[in-house]
Amino acid sequence: MAEPTVNINLDNPTEVARETLRRLAMRRIAPTPDNYQTLYEEIVGVPSAPTADLNLPSAVTALSGLVMDLNRQYPELAAPVEALNQAIRKGDWALCRRQLGQITLLLKQQGESGGGENLALLRDLLAKTLEFGVVTQLSHSPRLAEKAQELADAVRDADGAASLRNAASGLKSLWVGIEMQAPDVQQQQEMLKRILLLLVENIGELLDDDTWLRGQLDLVQKVITGPLRIQSLQEAEKRLKDVIFKQSMVKHGLREATATLKATMTTFVSRMSDAVAANDEYQGKITSHIERISNTEDVLELNRILETLLDETRAAQSDTRRAHEQLILERDTALQAEDRIKQLEAELAQMSALVREDPMTRSLNRRGLDDEFAREASRADRYNTPFSIAVLDVDNFKTLNDTRGHQTGDEALIHLVKVAKEELRLTDHIARLGGEEFIVILPNTPLDEAARIITRLQRSLTKKYFLDNNERVLITFSAGVAERTPGESQEASIARADSAMYEAKQRGKNRVCLAPEAPVQAAD
Ligand code: GH3
Ligand code: MG
Ligand code: MG
Repeated sequence: MAEPTVNINLDNPTEVARETLRRLAMRRIAPTPDNYQTLYEEIVGVPSAPTADLNLPSAVTALSGLVMDLNRQYPELAAPVEALNQAIRKGDWALCRRQLGQITLLLKQQGESGGGENLALLRDLLAKTLEFGVVTQLSHSPRLAEKAQELADAVRDADGAASLRNAASGLKSLWVGIEMQAPDVQQQQEMLKRILLLLVENIGELLDDDTWLRGQLDLVQKVITGPLRIQSLQEAEKRLKDVIFKQSMVKHGLREATATLKATMTTFVSRMSDAVAANDEYQGKITSHIERISNTEDVLELNRILETLLDETRAAQSDTRRAHEQLILERDTALQAEDRIKQLEAELAQMSALVREDPMTRSLNRRGLDDEFAREASRADRYNTPFSIAVLDVDNFKTLNDTRGHQTGDEALIHLVKVAKEELRLTDHIARLGGEEFIVILPNTPLDEAARIITRLQRSLTKKYFLDNNERVLITFSAGVAERTPGESQEASIARADSAMYEAKQRGKNRVCLAPEAPVQAAD
């Protein structure tokens, strides 16, 4: 390092002293009297006054200056320089010479090894710069990255000036290559930016009704449109991630809504299917609708199906209305028919009732008798109640007919039935077996009570006498009463009562005879 040149007046001791102090400070030399003197003499160019113990002050001063220079420039040589200093102070010139030789040797060695080390450091630095600073930046161009790596290896292995010169020319061609690639990278970035913008715009088109998403996308668009900076790209990435998250939520909601719509439509179509179960044409359509619904996740497609369904439902409704009207018509016809049937049934019932009756006497006929007997017999069997019958035969009727005429005979029979109906209980019935023979059915009545009732009827006939042309005519009858044994047939019961009636005839007529109990029937 060159000592700065200062213009000083060498005749002015104050200026020289100031300069001496300045140099002491600059050279970082301890301000000892010796050092001060040495520097002072250096400035004024003349040796100071000779010291008492040194007879070669100029050489000593020169050597001391050398020691100071060595101390300043090579602090690592402090020990041999101090040894030299001591040798100078002692005036041991032989030792001085040895120490100087030693220091020179050390300096020479240091110079050689230090230069080699520095070069190696520089080579390593260049290789590392290529590897970590250049190769990593060339990921877009494998060819250039490979070249940079080869260069790094070459620099590291360079063992002479020639190989270093080769490396230098390789480095130059690498920079040329990198510079030529630069516009490509720029172009690629611009293209990526355009693609990203297109994508963002497209997403925006899909989400025209969602203000939150639209806001996010507008921000992304704004960020990308500006110059490409890491911060703006990070911001865009964050916004896009938000959009993607929100989109997945919307998609999920949409999927749920679609599933609900599908389920509702399927139910609807199935109900429609039930409603038009009889119609083959609709059945076919409905099957195809259900298939279409189950095969789609597309809301638009579901909407199309729904519209078709509504159209068909309207058609089905008008068909159904027609069918309903037809149904009402048919029902009216049916109701009319039903009325007619009821009327006919009533007529039939009337006719039936008529045929159950003997038209002249208005008593039951044979058929009426059969019906009533069967009913009362089964009731008696069911409730285990007594059931009796009485066979009545008008006494000397032939004589009546013969003396008063057939007509009077008829009227006599009519009178008898009339009185019987008045005297018998409401539950009792009188039926005409034929001619002037009758049978009385007495439900829920044991034998003796039946006999009393028939006897009462005989008495009442003496009071409610028959008038023939205002002439009182007494009508009597003979009767046989029998209590039906459980399970006994109509025929058997009447036969027993008939027998009892004959007995009454035999005993003098106008009387009531009881039929003996029926013999015990074999269980069958
Ligand atoms: P008994 O006291 O023994 O019974 O003598 P009866 O004369 O009553 O008996 P019979 O059976 O001999 O006579 C019955 C007569 O009743 C014969 C028949 O002409 C007459 N008769 C049968 N059905 C009718 C009818 O519907 N009307 C009239 N007027 N007479 C009838
Ligand atoms: Mg008779
Ligand atoms: Mg008779």
